[in-house]
Amino acid sequence: MEIGYSDSRLNRDKRKILVIEDEIINRMILENILRETYDVVFAETGAQGLEILNEQFRTLSLVLLDLNLPDMYGVDILRQIKADAVTAVLPFIVMTADQEAEVQCLNLGATDFIAKPYPKPEVVLARILRTIELFEGRDLLRWTERDQLTGLYNPEFFFRYAAQFDDRHPDIPTDALLLDVNRFHILNERYGKAFGDEALRHIADKLRKTLNDAGGIVGRRGADAFLAYCPHRSDYADLLRQINDGIEKDYHARVRMGVYPNADRGIDMERRFARAKQAADKVKSSFSGAVGVYDAALYDKESFNEQLLEDFAAAIREEQFTVYFQPKFDIRSEKPRLCSAEALVRWNHPRLGIVSPGIFIPLFEENGLIREMDSYIWEKTARQIRSWREQFGWTIPVSVNVSRIDLSDPLLPKLLEKVVDKAGIPQAAFLLEITESAYTDDAEQIVGMAKALRESGFRIEMDDFGTGYSSLNMITTLPIDTLKLDMQFVRTAFRDKKDMRLIEAVVSLAHSLGLATVAEGVETEEQLQALKALGCDIVQGYYFSKPLPPEEFEAFVRLHKDTEV
Ligand code: C2E
Ligand code: CA
Ligand code: CA
Repeated sequence: MEIGYSDSRLNRDKRKILVIEDEIINRMILENILRETYDVVFAETGAQGLEILNEQFRTLSLVLLDLNLPDMYGVDILRQIKADAVTAVLPFIVMTADQEAEVQCLNLGATDFIAKPYPKPEVVLARILRTIELFEGRDLLRWTERDQLTGLYNPEFFFRYAAQFDDRHPDIPTDALLLDVNRFHILNERYGKAFGDEALRHIADKLRKTLNDAGGIVGRRGADAFLAYCPHRSDYADLLRQINDGIEKDYHARVRMGVYPNADRGIDMERRFARAKQAADKVKSSFSGAVGVYDAALYDKESFNEQLLEDFAAAIREEQFTVYFQPKFDIRSEKPRLCSAEALVRWNHPRLGIVSPGIFIPLFEENGLIREMDSYIWEKTARQIRSWREQFGWTIPVSVNVSRIDLSDPLLPKLLEKVVDKAGIPQAAFLLEITESAYTDDAEQIVGMAKALRESGFRIEMDDFGTGYSSLNMITTLPIDTLKLDMQFVRTAFRDKKDMRLIEAVVSLAHSLGLATVAEGVETEEQLQALKALGCDIVQGYYFSKPLPPEEFEAFVRLHKDTEV
C-alpha cells in the first residue's frame, strides 16, 4: 500500500481521491474498494492530509476524511479546509462510527457521510461517484472563475464578487488594492519562466492568506498584477511587510501596493482599481516596498487627464499638434556637422498653451489614441522633409518616435511605406526611434516587427538605451542600426568614472557590430569633448539647440548648412 505522495503507477486518466485515515486496516479496506476505479493517495495523520491537500488540490476529485485522527480532530481539519477559498470547493465525505457527528460535519460543509463499519463496496462506490459527479459540474465553474496558475479569481469574477460584497454590506467602507511585483520581467529573464511561475504562485498564496484574514478577496490581473478588495483599514504598510516577508528572501522579488481607500461606490469597479493602479505607480521606483495611496493630487491629475482625452479629437481636427525639430550633429570630424534631426511633438492647446509630450504621450498610450497621433505626426514630418528638400536641395534625414503601441499593429510597415511614398521621400530619410524598454517588454514580437521594418527599408535607432535593462548580449542579435544612449545614462557616466568606461565599452561594442552611436541630452562643451574622445558618432542636445518649430529650424539649417556641410 502506498502512503503519501505520488505513485508512479498511477493511471493519469483516473480521478484522484485523498484518503485521510490513521488505521491501517481501514486504509486496506478502502484501497481494495477504490483502486480499480480511482487513484488513491493516503495520509495517516491530519497534518499530512493538509499538506497533501495544499499541494495537490488542483488534481484532487474528492477527500475521504476519518474523524478520529491521532493528531487533529477531523472537525478542525474540515474547518481549516473550508476557510481556505481554494480548498473549500473540494467535496468531502466524512467517515465515522459516531452518528452524532454527522450533523456537525454536514453543517461544516461535508458533502456526504459514510458510516463505519463500512457498508458494502457497491454502496461506498456509488456514494463516492455521486458526490464527485455532483461536484464536477461546479468544478467547471470554478476553473472558469479562477486563474489557472494561481487559483485566484480572474478579473471578471473578481469584479463580480467585489460588487456582491458591496450589495451585501452597503455600510462597510472598502478599499481597492492593486499589488504587483517590482521588475518581475527581470526575474523571468534571469531565473527562467518556471521560477517566475513558482514565485507568482507563492506570492498569490501569501496574498490570499493575508488578505483573506483581513476579510478581503483577491484576484489576478495579468502577469504579475493582483487585485484585492478589502474592508477599510489603515495599516497596509504592516500588511505589505507581512506579505513581503519571505518573498524577498526566497524569490528576490518585492511586492508593491497601491490603495484607493474608501472607494467611491458611485464609480464602476474597473475605475476604482484604475485609481489603485495610479496609487501604485507613485511608488513604482521605490525600493522600500512602500504603499502608494490615492489622494487629492491624483484625483486632480485624473480630471486633468480626462480633459486632455476629451480634447484629443478637436486637437487633431484643428491641427493643434505640431512638430518641433531638434538637430543632431555628427562629431566624428574636426568640426561638428549638422547631419539630421529628431521630430518631437508639441501640443499647442487653446487653453493650456504648449503642452509637453511627457504629459500626454503616456496617457495616449494607455488609451490607444497614440496610433492616430503618431501617424498624424509622421505624415507631417514626411511632408516637411519633402518641402525642405525642395527648399534646400538637401534631404535632411529625420527620426520619428515610434511608440510600443504602434509596434503591435502588423500593418505598421505598410502604413509607414505609405507615409514616405505619399511625401515622395526615400525610406532612408525617415529614421525610426524605438525605445529600449519596448524590446524587453515583449522581445519576440518587437524583434519580429523591427525586422519587418528594416526589410521595408527603414533604419532603426534604439532609443533611451541604458534604461530598459537589456543586456549587452542582447544588442548583438537585435535588428537595429543605431544605439541612442539615454540622457540619464550619459549624465550618470559623467558623475562616476566607472560608468564612463561603460560608455566606452558600449560604443566600441556598437562599432564592432556596425552600429552608430548617438548621445542625447548633451548640454555642455565638456560633455561633447568627452563623448567625442570616447568615440561617439552623433550628438543631440541643448548644447547645439533645443527642439525648434519648423521656421526656426529652417533658419538654423541655413546657418549651419553652408558653413559645415
Ligand atoms: P525622447 O525621444 O527621449 O526625446 C528626448 C527628450 O529630451 C525630448 O523631450 C527633448 O526635448 C529632450 N531634450 C533634448 N535635448 C535635451 C537636453 O540637452 N537637455 C534636456 N534636459 N532635455 C533635452 P520632449 O520633446 O519633451 O519629449 C519627451 C518624450 O516624449 C520623448 O523622449 C519621446 O519618448 C516622447 N515623444 C516625443 N514626441 C513624440 C512623438 O511624436 N511620438 C511618440 N510616440 N512619442 C514622442
Ligand atoms: Ca526619441
Ligand atoms: Ca531618448
